[in-house]
Amino acid sequence: MNILLNPGPVVLSKRVRNALLKPDLCHRESEFVELQNKIRNSLLDVYGLSQNKWAAVVFTGSGTSAMEAMITSLVPLHGKVLIIENGVYGERLTKIAKIHNIDHVVIHHEWEEEINIENLNNELKYHKEISHVAIVQHETTTGRLNNIKEVADVCKKNRNISLLVDAVSSFGAEELKFDEWNIAACASTANKCLHGVPGTSFVVVNRSATKSMAATSARTLYLNLIEYLNAQDNNKTPYTQSIQTFYALDEALDELHEQGGWKNRQKKYQSLIDLVRTEFISLKIKPCLEINESSCVLNSFYLPKGINYNKLHDELKKDGFIIYAGQGGLKKSFFRISCMGNIFEDDIKRFISAVKKIVKP
Ligand SMILES: *Cc1c(COP(=O)(O)O)cnc(C)c1O
Repeated sequence: MNILLNPGPVVLSKRVRNALLKPDLCHRESEFVELQNKIRNSLLDVYGLSQNKWAAVVFTGSGTSAMEAMITSLVPLHGKVLIIENGVYGERLTKIAKIHNIDHVVIHHEWEEEINIENLNNELKYHKEISHVAIVQHETTTGRLNNIKEVADVCKKNRNISLLVDAVSSFGAEELKFDEWNIAACASTANKCLHGVPGTSFVVVNRSATKSMAATSARTLYLNLIEYLNAQDNNKTPYTQSIQTFYALDEALDELHEQGGWKNRQKKYQSLIDLVRTEFISLKIKPCLEINESSCVLNSFYLPKGINYNKLHDELKKDGFIIYAGQGGLKKSFFRISCMGNIFEDDIKRFISAVKKIVKP
């Protein structure tokens, strides 16, 4: 079996894979309600969130569906969202706003740049009608961990604006301070840092952020977060859910809690990615970002001299390792390594040996 070093879908643990084989189930039966409720509570438990103030809304789709549900359901019809871009996923938030005709302002950065806080402050002062700021926590394009605290501090000073966070590649492995950062909602998925299978995504919402949003003023039918929330609070689901994926997510969450939660997962990822960085540097494969601006989940590296991505990828695949290309214009110059999933130090050591066959020290 290949070791996936791409940022999801991930290598599954045996118990998560086996969970897919549980009995068939109808989504109108009480066993499904139990499963759905358990997952919703378990998701809140990852960051110790209270059920009175917060709700996890789960539905069928990949991570992008959670981004789209969050943006379309929580920016009021006459509201305006400021979107911070410094990679593919920030730009995807803008695409969502455009497609749904949601009034928005963009702060654009090049893909490798850090967020310009002064600019943000100025835009928030100028556009008094902004109701939310949308931001990607871990920009998977480059591996940059955006500094949400700094962004949140500026937002607080400007009319206490709340955040819509894309935490698709960080939920379960990076710190998220829901209350302190004034988070209105955060979108994520089963098959990245939570180690489930693709097919289920979720939004963790601050209940007060949903109060003013009527289910009837939705911009979309299928991704109407408020409708899902109301249904799930009443032990229902509006549409058929991906039952097998739910089983797997439930098991993956149990596993995460048993293994000591997000903090331990962060430690594990960090130690694996540190090993990759150290060995790569000794092979003259340079990281694109400093360690203190990178996530624990994924780092990006410049391609070694004289080796193009396809060759590196194909040679490593022969040895059972799947690496990940840069997106867009970055494909020619760099590649990415993610340590999410059920992988261990031995796997990384074997991976480094495989790299050493191609890149001579
Ligand atoms: C993976 C990812 C997504 C969603 O991707 P899907 O392919 O729809 O699951 C969104 N945002 C970030 C930051 C991601 O890493």
